[in-house]
Amino acid sequence: MIRIDSVTKRYPDGTVAVDRLSLEIPDRSITVLVGPSGCGKTTTLRMINRMVEPTEGTILLDGKDILRQPVNTLRRSMGYVIQNAGLFQHRTIIDNIATVPRLLGWSKDKARERARELMERVGLDAALAKRYPYQLSGGQQQRVGVARALAADPPVLLMDEPFSAVDPIVRKGLQDELLRIQEELGKTIVFVTHDIDEAVKIGTMVAVMRTGGRLAQYAPPAELLSDPADAFVEDFLGADRGVRRLSFFPSTGLELTMAPVVTADAGTERADTDAEFLLVTDADGRPLGWTEPEGLGGNGRLLSYGRPFVVGTDSLRAALDCAVLSPTGWAVAVDTDGKVAGVVSQQTIAEAIRGAHARGLTDAKVAG
Ligand code: ADP
Repeated sequence: MIRIDSVTKRYPDGTVAVDRLSLEIPDRSITVLVGPSGCGKTTTLRMINRMVEPTEGTILLDGKDILRQPVNTLRRSMGYVIQNAGLFQHRTIIDNIATVPRLLGWSKDKARERARELMERVGLDAALAKRYPYQLSGGQQQRVGVARALAADPPVLLMDEPFSAVDPIVRKGLQDELLRIQEELGKTIVFVTHDIDEAVKIGTMVAVMRTGGRLAQYAPPAELLSDPADAFVEDFLGADRGVRRLSFFPSTGLELTMAPVVTADAGTERADTDAEFLLVTDADGRPLGWTEPEGLGGNGRLLSYGRPFVVGTDSLRAALDCAVLSPTGWAVAVDTDGKVAGVVSQQTIAEAIRGAHARGLTDAKVAG
């Protein structure tokens, strides 16, 4: 949908902010531009809605050169969200969100109705509608910013460090909300951040840029983590990329066993296993803790079962983490009701990781 074709931006003072950048930005997905401060991310984003004009090269939207379209029509098709939300301080929340529909000539009632609908969509309490921006928390203001950008239902959303000014917990909430909204609405989102973890979490495609406005690598996040193009990208990705990559592989295929799982009323009978540890559950099958077989039925203290992972929802990374944290080295798998689905050893998880790795390499080859 958006194609950036060998675009260069040289500012009047001679600064080359973006250097011969080419990117195909896929439809209905989130493309993240990430890189250190000053590497040309914001300039790139602003060239897409013509707040900045390229010096060389072309940008195509649906195959048409954006420079040949009236700038107002172009911007109407692109919502724009910035850091600190950039709300109009003298307008109420509902009127902030209704801004673009009003500009487009909608009646006040219709625009406000649409604004209320969007407040709900981005997780804002309707009671906030009549407040002013200064009466909202940073995270709430950012949600208003997203709602305002979505008000006229543009196919494209440009987001410039939208979540950078809020604390990590609020930020995680906003990221999750964006992913949920995106699942419902399927916009074409271009998202700028300097935070590689944010990029890896929300990006369908991630463009890593380096100082001087050059593209270092453009790939899906799992590929970035497995095959960084060079030392710069590897450095920028930071530590633990192998473990982080596991979050892209589901835990579904793990071979679970119920053999060492017993209910609390199993008495002194040994479970049908020679396992070193048994997992004790309550009558409903919820985990209580680990015990050595000799401790069954007695008053022996149970060892913590740690944090279980949810089969089918959680990734191999979560499963591995559970096994590493478990006092027995075995991870506990539960279903969505919290009932034990089985247990799995570190060794079995390691085998699954090797399998996932092999599949990952095959995928990379197919994609390449
Ligand atoms: P990023 O968003 O990655 O931090 P920017 O796109 O904001 O980077 O900036 C890229 C480079 O262009 C930086 O060196 C910055 O100082 C420079 N720059 C940005 N805007 C202007 C401008 N209006 N005039 C001159 N240089 C600019």
